[in-house]
Amino acid sequence: MNLTIKILLAMLLGCVAGLLIRMNAGHAIIQVLLDDILKTGGNIFITILKMLVVPVVFVSLVCGSSSLDIKKLGRIGGKTLVLYLITTAIAITLAILFASIFSIGSDLQAASTTPLAIKEVPSIKDIISNLFPSNFFKALVEGEMLQIIVFSILFGMALSAAGEAGKRIGAIFRDLNDVIMHFITMMLQLAPYGIFCLVAVSFAQMGFNLIGQLFGYFSIVLLVLLIHLTVTYSLLLKVVGGLNPLMFFRKFYPCMLFAFSTSSSNASIPVVLETVEHKLGVKNQVASFIVPLGATINMDGTAIMQGVATVFIAHVYNVPIGLTGFLMVIMMATLASIGTAGIPSVGLITLAMVLKQVNVPVEGIALIIGVDRLLDMARTAVNVSGDAVVACIVAKNEKSMNTEVYDTV
Ligand code: ASP
Repeated sequence: MNLTIKILLAMLLGCVAGLLIRMNAGHAIIQVLLDDILKTGGNIFITILKMLVVPVVFVSLVCGSSSLDIKKLGRIGGKTLVLYLITTAIAITLAILFASIFSIGSDLQAASTTPLAIKEVPSIKDIISNLFPSNFFKALVEGEMLQIIVFSILFGMALSAAGEAGKRIGAIFRDLNDVIMHFITMMLQLAPYGIFCLVAVSFAQMGFNLIGQLFGYFSIVLLVLLIHLTVTYSLLLKVVGGLNPLMFFRKFYPCMLFAFSTSSSNASIPVVLETVEHKLGVKNQVASFIVPLGATINMDGTAIMQGVATVFIAHVYNVPIGLTGFLMVIMMATLASIGTAGIPSVGLITLAMVLKQVNVPVEGIALIIGVDRLLDMARTAVNVSGDAVVACIVAKNEKSMNTEVYDTV
C-alpha cells in the first residue's frame, strides 16, 4: 500500500478511534490509552517533524540562494510577497462577505466571560527590525524562522561570490541537502502512526457539544476555507500560473493531511518542501525560499477564521463595524497573518489585534475558543496549501519549474 493511502487511512481510523475513546471516557484503561500511548506517540511525531525544520530550511535555502543572482532573487521575493498579500486579502474578504450575508451571531447574547490575558502582537516595525540575527546560532536554537531565512540567503549569496572556496562549500551543502531530503523520506514512514495518534487525541478531546451552539460560526469558517481552497487557488493556478489545479491537489493532499493533524505550518515545512520540489517540480532555488517564508508569514486560513470571528463577535456584542471598519479588518488581518507564527492556536491570539482595531470587545474570543481545535486543524491545511500554490505560480512564471514533473502522476 502506498504511503499516501496509508496516511489517509490513518487519519480516518484516528477519527474513529478518537470518537470511540470519547464515548468510553472515564474507564481507567481508556485514559491510559489516551494519555500514555496516543498523546506520547503524537508528541514524538511532532517533535521529529520539528527537529527537521531548522536544518531543512537552512541547508536547502543556502543551496537555493547560492544558485540565484540578486536580480532574480529580488524578482522572486517581490512576486511572492505580492501574491501572499493578495491571496490573504481575498481570503479575508470572502470571510467577511459570507459572515455578513448569513449574519452569524446576531441571534446570540453576549454572556459575561472571564477576561482574557491577551499577548501583544509584535508590530510590523518590530518584525522588520528583527529580521537580522545578532547571533545566528541563537536564531537556530530558538527557531527564529525569518532570521534563519535572511541569514541563509546572505550566506548563499556570499557562497556564490567566493570563487573556489564557495564551490567547495557549495558542494558540501548540496550533498547535505540530498542527505536531509532522504532523512525526511525516512521519517515519513512514521507518518501514518503519528497522524493516527494526533487525530485520535484531537477527536477524543474536541468540544463537539459547543459546535452545536456555535454552528453558524463554525460552519461559515469551514465553508469559506473550502471555497478559498478549491475556487480561489484553482483559479489562481489555472489563470495566473497556467497549471492544472487537479494535478496540484492530487499531489499535495498528503501535505494537507499533515498540516491538518499537526495544526502547525512550521512543523509541516519539511514535508511541504519535499512535495513541492519532488512531486510538483518546483526548483529548489524557488521552493527553499517560498515555502519557509510562507509558513511564517502567509496564513490565508487563519485570516479567514479572523474575518468570520470579527463579524461574529461584533454581532454578538452589537458593535457596528461599517465599510471603513471592514476595510480596516481586511488590512489588519492581512498584517496579523504576517505576525502569526505557524504553530497551533496562535491565530486566536493575533485575532485580538484585529478586534481592537475596530473596537470589538476582545473578550469575545472566549466565545469561540471552545470550537477552535478543529478549525485550527482545517485552517492550517489551507495555510500550507496557499504557500505551495504561490510557490508553483512563481516558479512557473520564473521558468524555475519542471512542468513535466508537475504533470506526471
Ligand atoms: N495553526 C496555524 C498554523 O500553524 C496558525 C493559527 O491559525 O493558529 O498555520
